[in-house]
Amino acid sequence: MMDKIKNPRSVLHALEPIGLGTAEVESLLSYFCRLAVSHSTSTLSLSRAVARRFEHDVEEQFDWYHRQLSGMGEAALTWSGALSALTSVPRLDRLTFLPWKDVIAQNGLPILSNGQFCLQCLAEDQASGRTPYFRLAWESKLVSVCNKHRVRLTTHCPCCGKDKVRHAAALVVPGWCTRCGAFLGSETHDHLANIKPVELWRSRQIGALLAAQDQLGELPQRQHLIDVVRHIIEEMDGGQSARFAKRVGVAKATVHYWLQTDKTPTLEACLAMASQSGISLTQLLTGDLHDWKPPAEGQQLALALFKPEPRRRVPSRELDWGEIEHQLQRFLLLPTPISVREAARRLEVEPRQLYLNSNRTARQLGERYMAYRKRRRQANLNAAMPHLEAAGREVLSEGKALNLREMTARVPPQVLSSVQGLFDVLRDVQANIELSPNMR
Ligand SMILES: [Zn+2]
Ligand SMILES: [Zn+2]
Repeated sequence: MMDKIKNPRSVLHALEPIGLGTAEVESLLSYFCRLAVSHSTSTLSLSRAVARRFEHDVEEQFDWYHRQLSGMGEAALTWSGALSALTSVPRLDRLTFLPWKDVIAQNGLPILSNGQFCLQCLAEDQASGRTPYFRLAWESKLVSVCNKHRVRLTTHCPCCGKDKVRHAAALVVPGWCTRCGAFLGSETHDHLANIKPVELWRSRQIGALLAAQDQLGELPQRQHLIDVVRHIIEEMDGGQSARFAKRVGVAKATVHYWLQTDKTPTLEACLAMASQSGISLTQLLTGDLHDWKPPAEGQQLALALFKPEPRRRVPSRELDWGEIEHQLQRFLLLPTPISVREAARRLEVEPRQLYLNSNRTARQLGERYMAYRKRRRQANLNAAMPHLEAAGREVLSEGKALNLREMTARVPPQVLSSVQGLFDVLRDVQANIELSPNMR
Protein backbone atom coordinates (compact mmCIF):
# COMPACT_ATOMS: atom_id res chain seq x y z
CA MET A 1 0.00 0.00 0.00
CA MET A 2 1.50 3.31 -1.09
CA ASP A 3 -0.15 5.47 1.53
CA LYS A 4 2.62 7.84 2.39
CA ILE A 5 4.35 10.24 0.07
CA LYS A 6 7.92 10.79 1.19
CA ASN A 7 8.05 14.25 2.67
CA PRO A 8 10.33 14.59 5.66
CA ARG A 9 9.71 18.28 6.21
CA SER A 10 6.00 18.19 7.01
CA VAL A 11 4.86 18.27 10.64
CA LEU A 12 2.30 15.52 10.03
CA HIS A 13 2.58 12.54 7.69
CA ALA A 14 1.84 13.49 4.09
CA LEU A 15 -0.90 10.90 3.59
CA GLU A 16 -2.15 10.64 0.06
CA PRO A 17 -5.90 11.41 -0.13
CA ILE A 18 -7.88 8.46 -1.51
CA GLY A 19 -10.01 8.59 -4.66
CA LEU A 20 -9.26 12.14 -5.86
CA GLY A 21 -11.00 12.85 -9.15
CA THR A 22 -13.56 10.07 -8.66
CA ALA A 23 -17.07 9.90 -7.25
CA GLU A 24 -15.55 8.01 -4.34
CA VAL A 25 -13.23 10.76 -3.21
CA GLU A 26 -12.41 10.67 0.49
CA SER A 27 -13.86 13.23 2.93
CA LEU A 28 -11.64 15.55 4.95
CA LEU A 29 -13.14 14.01 8.07
CA SER A 30 -11.91 10.60 6.94
CA TYR A 31 -8.50 12.01 6.07
CA PHE A 32 -8.25 13.57 9.51
CA CYS A 33 -9.11 10.25 11.22
CA ARG A 34 -6.56 8.37 9.13
CA LEU A 35 -3.98 10.98 10.01
CA ALA A 36 -4.56 10.38 13.70
CA VAL A 37 -4.22 6.61 13.18
CA SER A 38 -1.04 7.14 11.18
CA HIS A 39 0.46 9.10 14.08
CA SER A 40 -0.75 6.61 16.69
CA THR A 41 -2.71 9.30 18.41
CA SER A 42 -6.39 9.73 19.16
CA THR A 43 -8.60 11.92 16.97
CA LEU A 44 -9.27 13.89 20.16
CA SER A 45 -5.62 14.78 20.80
CA LEU A 46 -4.93 15.51 17.15
CA SER A 47 -7.98 17.77 16.95
CA ARG A 48 -6.85 19.68 20.06
CA ALA A 49 -3.37 20.10 18.63
CA VAL A 50 -4.69 21.39 15.30
CA ALA A 51 -7.23 23.65 16.99
CA ARG A 52 -4.61 25.14 19.30
CA ARG A 53 -2.55 26.12 16.29
CA PHE A 54 -5.18 27.31 13.89
CA GLU A 55 -8.37 28.30 15.67
CA HIS A 56 -8.35 31.38 17.78
CA ASP A 57 -11.00 30.70 20.36
CA VAL A 58 -11.03 27.05 21.16
CA GLU A 59 -13.50 26.17 23.84
CA GLU A 60 -12.18 23.99 26.58
CA GLN A 61 -14.48 21.07 25.87
CA PHE A 62 -15.03 21.12 22.14
CA ASP A 63 -15.77 17.88 20.32
CA TRP A 64 -14.03 17.81 16.98
CA TYR A 65 -16.76 15.71 15.37
CA HIS A 66 -19.35 18.44 15.85
CA ARG A 67 -17.43 20.54 13.34
CA GLN A 68 -18.47 19.99 9.74
CA LEU A 69 -14.95 19.41 8.48
CA SER A 70 -16.06 18.26 5.03
CA GLY A 71 -18.79 20.83 4.40
CA MET A 72 -18.63 24.30 2.94
CA GLY A 73 -18.40 26.55 5.99
CA GLU A 74 -15.77 28.03 8.30
CA ALA A 75 -14.73 24.70 9.80
CA ALA A 76 -14.02 23.17 6.38
CA LEU A 77 -12.00 26.22 5.38
CA THR A 78 -9.95 26.34 8.58
CA TRP A 79 -9.33 22.61 8.78
CA SER A 80 -8.50 21.93 5.15
CA GLY A 81 -6.05 24.82 5.26
CA ALA A 82 -4.57 23.69 8.58
CA LEU A 83 -4.14 20.09 7.49
CA SER A 84 -2.62 21.15 4.16
CA ALA A 85 -0.15 23.29 6.09
CA LEU A 86 0.75 20.52 8.53
CA THR A 87 0.96 17.66 5.99
CA SER A 88 2.29 19.70 3.06
CA VAL A 89 -0.34 17.97 0.89
CA PRO A 90 -1.79 20.80 -1.22
CA ARG A 91 -5.45 21.64 -1.73
CA LEU A 92 -7.07 19.43 0.87
CA ASP A 93 -10.19 21.53 0.26
CA ARG A 94 -10.77 19.05 -2.57
CA LEU A 95 -11.88 16.64 0.19
CA THR A 96 -14.71 19.02 1.12
CA PHE A 97 -17.63 20.71 -0.66
CA LEU A 98 -15.76 24.04 -0.56
CA PRO A 99 -15.16 24.25 -4.34
CA TRP A 100 -18.94 24.80 -4.70
CA LYS A 101 -19.12 27.54 -2.07
CA ASP A 102 -20.17 30.27 -4.49
CA VAL A 103 -22.92 28.31 -6.27
CA ILE A 104 -24.68 26.64 -3.33
CA ALA A 105 -26.41 28.68 -0.62
CA GLN A 106 -24.40 28.76 2.59
CA ASN A 107 -27.10 26.85 4.50
CA GLY A 108 -28.11 24.90 1.42
CA LEU A 109 -25.82 21.91 1.83
CA PRO A 110 -27.18 19.77 4.64
CA ILE A 111 -24.47 17.60 6.21
CA LEU A 112 -25.43 14.42 8.03
CA SER A 113 -23.90 14.39 11.49
CA ASN A 114 -24.71 10.76 12.35
CA GLY A 115 -22.11 9.42 9.94
CA GLN A 116 -23.58 7.21 7.23
CA PHE A 117 -21.68 4.62 5.26
CA CYS A 118 -22.04 1.80 2.71
CA LEU A 119 -21.43 -1.60 4.28
CA GLN A 120 -20.25 -2.98 0.96
CA CYS A 121 -17.82 -0.15 0.15
CA LEU A 122 -16.05 -0.71 3.47
CA ALA A 123 -16.04 -4.49 2.95
CA GLU A 124 -14.57 -3.98 -0.51
CA ASP A 125 -11.89 -1.65 0.83
CA GLN A 126 -10.78 -4.29 3.25
CA ALA A 127 -11.01 -7.18 0.79
CA SER A 128 -8.86 -5.34 -1.73
CA GLY A 129 -6.21 -4.48 0.84
CA ARG A 130 -7.02 -0.77 0.78
CA THR A 131 -7.39 1.28 3.95
CA PRO A 132 -11.12 1.57 4.70
CA TYR A 133 -12.17 5.22 4.41
CA PHE A 134 -15.27 7.44 4.41
CA ARG A 135 -16.47 8.88 1.10
CA LEU A 136 -17.18 12.60 0.82
CA ALA A 137 -20.53 11.81 -0.82
CA TRP A 138 -21.67 10.12 2.41
CA GLU A 139 -21.51 13.47 4.22
CA SER A 140 -24.40 14.90 2.22
CA LYS A 141 -27.90 14.40 3.58
CA LEU A 142 -29.15 14.29 -0.01
CA VAL A 143 -27.20 11.10 -0.69
CA SER A 144 -29.09 8.13 0.72
CA VAL A 145 -27.84 5.22 -1.41
CA CYS A 146 -24.50 3.93 -2.68
CA ASN A 147 -24.42 4.43 -6.38
CA LYS A 148 -21.83 1.72 -6.87
CA HIS A 149 -23.55 -1.04 -4.91
CA ARG A 150 -27.11 0.19 -5.23
CA VAL A 151 -27.78 -0.32 -1.56
CA ARG A 152 -29.03 2.06 1.07
CA LEU A 153 -26.41 3.78 3.22
CA THR A 154 -26.70 3.15 6.93
CA THR A 155 -25.72 4.90 10.15
CA HIS A 156 -25.95 1.75 12.25
CA CYS A 157 -23.35 -0.85 13.17
CA PRO A 158 -24.27 -4.20 11.55
CA CYS A 159 -23.23 -5.95 14.76
CA CYS A 160 -24.38 -3.94 17.81
CA GLY A 161 -27.08 -2.04 15.91
CA LYS A 162 -26.16 1.27 17.51
CA ASP A 163 -26.27 4.65 15.79
CA LYS A 164 -23.45 7.24 15.46
CA VAL A 165 -20.81 4.55 15.35
CA ARG A 166 -18.69 5.82 12.46
CA HIS A 167 -16.62 8.70 13.75
CA ALA A 168 -18.21 10.42 16.76
CA ALA A 169 -15.60 9.37 19.30
CA ALA A 170 -12.28 10.30 20.84
CA LEU A 171 -10.57 7.38 19.15
CA VAL A 172 -11.55 6.45 15.59
CA VAL A 173 -10.20 3.83 13.22
CA PRO A 174 -12.15 4.38 9.99
CA GLY A 175 -14.19 1.25 9.22
CA TRP A 176 -14.56 0.01 12.80
CA CYS A 177 -17.53 0.63 15.11
CA THR A 178 -16.68 3.24 17.73
CA ARG A 179 -19.14 1.64 20.15
CA CYS A 180 -18.43 -2.11 19.97
CA GLY A 181 -15.25 -2.34 17.90
CA ALA A 182 -16.75 -4.58 15.17
CA PHE A 183 -15.82 -4.06 11.53
CA LEU A 184 -18.48 -1.95 9.81
CA GLY A 185 -18.11 -3.54 6.39
CA SER A 186 -20.38 -6.40 5.46
CA GLU A 187 -21.39 -8.27 2.33
CA THR A 188 -24.74 -9.51 3.50
CA HIS A 189 -27.94 -7.61 3.08
CA ASP A 190 -31.00 -8.78 4.87
CA HIS A 191 -33.20 -5.95 3.87
CA LEU A 192 -32.99 -4.78 0.30
CA ALA A 193 -34.89 -1.63 1.07
CA ASN A 194 -36.87 -0.34 -1.86
CA ILE A 195 -34.74 2.34 -3.41
CA LYS A 196 -36.50 4.97 -5.49
CA PRO A 197 -35.11 5.95 -8.90
CA VAL A 198 -34.77 9.54 -7.70
CA GLU A 199 -32.47 8.45 -4.86
CA LEU A 200 -30.13 6.66 -7.26
CA TRP A 201 -30.23 9.56 -9.68
CA ARG A 202 -29.41 12.04 -6.92
CA SER A 203 -26.46 10.07 -5.63
CA ARG A 204 -25.18 9.64 -9.20
CA GLN A 205 -25.39 13.40 -9.82
CA ILE A 206 -23.60 14.28 -6.59
CA GLY A 207 -20.99 11.59 -7.30
CA ALA A 208 -20.32 13.10 -10.72
CA LEU A 209 -20.05 16.54 -9.13
CA LEU A 210 -17.42 15.33 -6.67
CA ALA A 211 -15.52 13.55 -9.43
CA ALA A 212 -15.44 16.82 -11.38
CA GLN A 213 -14.22 19.02 -8.55
CA ASP A 214 -10.64 17.86 -8.86
CA GLN A 215 -10.43 19.05 -12.47
CA LEU A 216 -12.13 22.43 -12.20
CA GLY A 217 -10.18 25.01 -14.15
CA GLU A 218 -11.59 27.87 -12.15
CA LEU A 219 -13.95 27.88 -9.20
CA PRO A 220 -17.64 27.86 -10.21
CA GLN A 221 -19.29 31.27 -10.01
CA ARG A 222 -22.79 32.18 -8.96
CA GLN A 223 -23.33 34.49 -11.93
CA HIS A 224 -22.71 31.66 -14.43
CA LEU A 225 -25.21 29.46 -12.62
CA ILE A 226 -27.84 32.19 -12.69
CA ASP A 227 -27.21 32.77 -16.41
CA VAL A 228 -27.88 29.09 -17.06
CA VAL A 229 -31.07 29.15 -14.95
CA ARG A 230 -32.28 32.18 -16.87
CA HIS A 231 -31.54 30.47 -20.17
CA ILE A 232 -33.40 27.31 -19.14
CA ILE A 233 -36.44 29.36 -18.05
CA GLU A 234 -36.35 31.12 -21.38
CA GLU A 235 -36.17 27.90 -23.39
CA MET A 236 -38.56 25.75 -21.39
CA ASP A 237 -41.11 28.20 -20.04
CA GLY A 238 -40.87 31.19 -22.36
CA GLY A 239 -39.19 33.25 -19.68
CA GLN A 240 -42.01 32.81 -17.16
CA SER A 241 -40.30 32.13 -13.87
CA ALA A 242 -43.59 31.32 -12.12
CA ARG A 243 -44.17 28.41 -14.49
CA PHE A 244 -40.61 27.24 -14.02
CA ALA A 245 -40.96 27.47 -10.21
CA LYS A 246 -44.00 25.22 -10.37
CA ARG A 247 -42.17 22.82 -12.65
CA VAL A 248 -39.27 22.35 -10.24
CA GLY A 249 -41.41 22.45 -7.10
CA VAL A 250 -40.19 25.63 -5.40
CA ALA A 251 -42.02 28.84 -4.46
CA LYS A 252 -42.43 31.52 -7.09
CA ALA A 253 -40.68 34.07 -4.88
CA THR A 254 -37.67 31.77 -4.49
CA VAL A 255 -36.89 31.80 -8.22
CA HIS A 256 -37.46 35.55 -8.24
CA TYR A 257 -34.84 36.01 -5.49
CA TRP A 258 -32.27 33.94 -7.40
CA LEU A 259 -32.75 36.01 -10.51
CA GLN A 260 -33.17 39.47 -8.98
CA THR A 261 -31.12 39.50 -5.76
CA ASP A 262 -27.87 37.86 -4.65
CA LYS A 263 -29.64 34.78 -3.21
CA THR A 264 -28.14 31.45 -4.24
CA PRO A 265 -30.11 28.19 -4.68
CA THR A 266 -29.69 25.30 -2.26
CA LEU A 267 -28.22 22.00 -3.46
CA GLU A 268 -31.67 20.45 -3.26
CA ALA A 269 -33.13 23.18 -5.50
CA CYS A 270 -30.26 22.72 -7.97
CA LEU A 271 -31.00 19.00 -8.09
CA ALA A 272 -34.67 19.76 -8.71
CA MET A 273 -33.77 22.12 -11.56
CA ALA A 274 -31.36 19.61 -13.06
CA SER A 275 -33.91 16.81 -12.79
CA GLN A 276 -36.65 18.76 -14.56
CA SER A 277 -34.54 20.31 -17.31
CA GLY A 278 -32.33 17.33 -18.12
CA ILE A 279 -29.08 19.23 -17.58
CA SER A 280 -26.56 17.51 -15.31
CA LEU A 281 -25.94 18.93 -11.84
CA THR A 282 -22.28 19.49 -12.70
CA GLN A 283 -23.12 21.40 -15.87
CA LEU A 284 -25.68 23.48 -14.03
CA LEU A 285 -23.28 24.44 -11.23
CA THR A 286 -20.34 25.10 -13.53
CA GLY A 287 -22.49 27.19 -15.87
CA ASP A 288 -21.85 24.88 -18.80
CA LEU A 289 -24.71 25.04 -21.30
CA HIS A 290 -22.93 23.38 -24.15
CA ASP A 291 -24.93 20.51 -25.70
CA TRP A 292 -27.98 21.17 -23.50
CA LYS A 293 -31.31 21.24 -25.30
CA PRO A 294 -34.70 21.63 -23.69
CA PRO A 295 -36.21 18.17 -23.22
CA ALA A 296 -39.01 17.21 -25.61
CA GLU A 297 -42.46 16.63 -24.13
CA GLY A 298 -42.03 12.86 -23.91
CA GLN A 299 -38.73 13.28 -22.12
CA GLN A 300 -40.34 15.73 -19.73
CA LEU A 301 -42.78 13.04 -18.65
CA ALA A 302 -39.88 10.71 -17.91
CA LEU A 303 -38.16 13.45 -15.92
CA ALA A 304 -41.27 13.80 -13.78
CA LEU A 305 -40.11 10.55 -12.16
CA PHE A 306 -37.37 12.55 -10.47
CA LYS A 307 -39.63 15.38 -9.44
CA PRO A 308 -39.28 16.22 -5.77
CA GLU A 309 -42.46 15.04 -4.11
CA PRO A 310 -44.15 16.78 -1.21
CA ARG A 311 -43.49 14.92 2.03
CA ARG A 312 -46.29 12.57 2.88
CA ARG A 313 -46.99 10.78 6.11
CA VAL A 314 -46.06 7.14 5.94
CA PRO A 315 -49.16 5.06 6.61
CA SER A 316 -48.79 2.70 9.55
CA ARG A 317 -47.81 -0.77 8.53
CA GLU A 318 -49.60 -4.05 9.25
CA LEU A 319 -46.99 -6.29 10.86
CA ASP A 320 -46.86 -9.94 9.90
CA TRP A 321 -45.67 -11.57 13.12
CA GLY A 322 -45.40 -15.02 11.56
CA GLU A 323 -42.94 -13.66 9.03
CA ILE A 324 -41.08 -11.66 11.69
CA GLU A 325 -40.72 -14.77 13.85
CA HIS A 326 -39.39 -16.63 10.81
CA GLN A 327 -36.80 -13.88 10.21
CA LEU A 328 -35.79 -13.91 13.87
CA GLN A 329 -35.17 -17.64 13.65
CA ARG A 330 -32.91 -16.96 10.69
CA PHE A 331 -31.02 -14.31 12.67
CA LEU A 332 -30.42 -16.92 15.38
CA LEU A 333 -28.41 -18.92 12.85
CA LEU A 334 -26.21 -16.07 11.62
CA PRO A 335 -22.52 -16.90 12.05
CA THR A 336 -21.93 -13.50 13.70
CA PRO A 337 -24.65 -12.93 16.30
CA ILE A 338 -26.55 -9.65 16.17
CA SER A 339 -28.26 -7.71 18.96
CA VAL A 340 -32.03 -7.45 19.40
CA ARG A 341 -31.69 -3.78 18.59
CA GLU A 342 -30.02 -4.63 15.28
CA ALA A 343 -32.64 -7.32 14.53
CA ALA A 344 -35.40 -4.81 15.20
CA ARG A 345 -33.73 -2.29 12.93
CA ARG A 346 -33.44 -4.78 10.09
CA LEU A 347 -37.11 -5.70 10.43
CA GLU A 348 -38.15 -2.06 10.82
CA VAL A 349 -39.88 -2.56 14.14
CA GLU A 350 -39.06 -1.40 17.65
CA PRO A 351 -37.06 -3.70 19.95
CA ARG A 352 -39.84 -3.62 22.56
CA GLN A 353 -42.30 -4.85 19.92
CA LEU A 354 -40.05 -7.87 19.42
CA TYR A 355 -40.00 -8.56 23.16
CA LEU A 356 -43.78 -8.18 23.31
CA ASN A 357 -44.70 -10.34 20.34
CA SER A 358 -41.82 -12.76 19.78
CA ASN A 359 -40.67 -12.83 23.34
CA ARG A 360 -38.89 -16.18 23.44
CA THR A 361 -36.93 -15.80 20.22
CA ALA A 362 -36.05 -12.19 21.00
CA ARG A 363 -34.66 -13.25 24.37
CA GLN A 364 -32.70 -16.10 22.78
CA LEU A 365 -31.28 -13.64 20.29
CA GLY A 366 -30.34 -11.26 23.11
CA GLU A 367 -28.66 -13.97 25.15
CA ARG A 368 -26.73 -15.27 22.18
CA TYR A 369 -25.52 -11.76 21.41
CA MET A 370 -24.51 -11.01 24.99
CA ALA A 371 -22.53 -14.25 25.21
CA TYR A 372 -20.82 -13.41 21.94
CA ARG A 373 -20.02 -9.88 23.12
CA LYS A 374 -18.55 -11.25 26.31
CA ARG A 375 -16.39 -13.78 24.45
CA ARG A 376 -15.19 -11.17 22.02
CA ARG A 377 -14.50 -8.61 24.74
CA GLN A 378 -12.42 -11.14 26.63
CA ALA A 379 -10.54 -12.25 23.50
CA ASN A 380 -9.80 -8.63 22.57
CA LEU A 381 -8.66 -7.87 26.09
CA ASN A 382 -6.38 -10.92 26.15
CA ALA A 383 -4.85 -9.86 22.86
CA ALA A 384 -4.42 -6.27 24.00
CA MET A 385 -3.07 -6.94 27.50
CA PRO A 386 0.59 -7.56 26.57
CA HIS A 387 0.58 -4.25 24.61
CA LEU A 388 -1.11 -2.38 27.45
CA GLU A 389 1.21 -3.74 30.13
CA ALA A 390 4.37 -3.09 28.15
CA ALA A 391 3.25 0.45 27.36
CA GLY A 392 2.02 0.94 30.94
CA ARG A 393 5.38 -0.02 32.41
CA GLU A 394 7.11 2.37 30.06
CA VAL A 395 4.80 5.25 30.94
CA LEU A 396 5.06 4.68 34.70
CA SER A 397 8.82 4.24 34.61
CA GLU A 398 9.04 7.65 32.97
CA GLY A 399 7.06 9.01 35.91
CA LYS A 400 4.05 9.94 33.78
CA ALA A 401 0.34 9.31 34.35
CA LEU A 402 -1.31 6.36 32.65
CA ASN A 403 -3.84 8.12 30.43
CA LEU A 404 -5.33 7.88 26.96
CA ARG A 405 -2.78 10.24 25.50
CA GLU A 406 0.24 8.30 26.67
CA MET A 407 -1.30 5.01 25.61
CA THR A 408 -2.31 6.09 22.10
CA ALA A 409 1.28 7.19 21.55
CA ARG A 410 2.47 3.65 22.30
CA VAL A 411 -0.29 1.16 21.49
CA PRO A 412 -1.61 0.58 17.91
CA PRO A 413 -5.05 2.25 17.57
CA GLN A 414 -6.67 -0.97 16.32
CA VAL A 415 -5.65 -2.64 19.57
CA LEU A 416 -6.73 0.27 21.73
CA SER A 417 -10.12 0.71 20.07
CA SER A 418 -10.88 -2.99 20.54
CA VAL A 419 -10.74 -2.67 24.33
CA GLN A 420 -14.09 -2.00 26.00
CA GLY A 421 -14.11 0.23 29.07
CA LEU A 422 -10.58 1.39 28.42
CA PHE A 423 -10.36 3.67 31.45
CA ASP A 424 -11.21 0.91 33.91
CA VAL A 425 -8.81 -1.41 32.15
CA LEU A 426 -6.02 1.16 32.43
CA ARG A 427 -6.68 1.43 36.16
CA ASP A 428 -6.33 -2.35 36.45
CA VAL A 429 -3.15 -2.33 34.39
CA GLN A 430 -1.68 0.31 36.69
CA ALA A 431 -2.69 -1.59 39.81
CA ASN A 432 -1.17 -4.82 38.46
CA ILE A 433 2.12 -3.15 37.63
CA GLU A 434 2.31 -1.48 41.01
CA LEU A 435 1.50 -4.75 42.80
CA SER A 436 4.38 -6.54 41.11
CA PRO A 437 7.28 -4.10 41.46
CA ASN A 438 9.79 -6.59 40.11
CA MET A 439 8.06 -6.34 36.75
CA ARG A 440 8.76 -2.63 36.43
ZN1 LIG B 1 -20.99 1.02 -1.77
ZN1 LIG C 1 -21.03 -1.80 16.92
